[in-house]
Amino acid sequence: MADTSGPGTGWQAVLRAEGYRLTPQRELVLRAVERLGHATVEEVHQDVVRQHASVNISTVYRTLALLDEFGLIRQVYLTDRTPVYHSTSVPSHVHLSCTGCGQVIDADPDDFTPLAATLVRKHGFAPHVDRLVLSGLCADCRRRESDADPGPTGGQERSARPGPTVEG
Ligand SMILES: [Zn+2]
Ligand SMILES: [Zn+2]
Repeated sequence: MADTSGPGTGWQAVLRAEGYRLTPQRELVLRAVERLGHATVEEVHQDVVRQHASVNISTVYRTLALLDEFGLIRQVYLTDRTPVYHSTSVPSHVHLSCTGCGQVIDADPDDFTPLAATLVRKHGFAPHVDRLVLSGLCADCRRRESDADPGPTGGQERSARPGPTVEG
């Protein structure tokens, strides 16, 4: 077995220490996550099959779980539905997840230090700031919303049309 020992290669050192090997296929998945930023399993799979058409999605699932276990990537729930993955080689960040368009903005965790300190003081609770996800509206969506809406008082709610409920 060829030992490609190179100093300064972070994840290889991690894996060797753990006694795992990063097979070419696993590396392909890791590279895809690093390249895509915040990607779902499907998105990672689509990226991987472009280079290796034979890799199926259940392999990608297993590999992602393994890489998460290795600490090379992190699973994050930006919505309550589908998890995405990001590489742990990027600086830690707080996810600002837009419910309007789905884009994710990476915020500096230092901005949340005062909040974290407050939570510790008031509740004795120390949040995992680098796993924090805040849902909200991005600048573009807020602009779009205020363009569409004449104002907070102009909301005409379209009530459900009264109609016969047919059951069959
Ligand atoms: Zn992230
Ligand atoms: Zn948005």
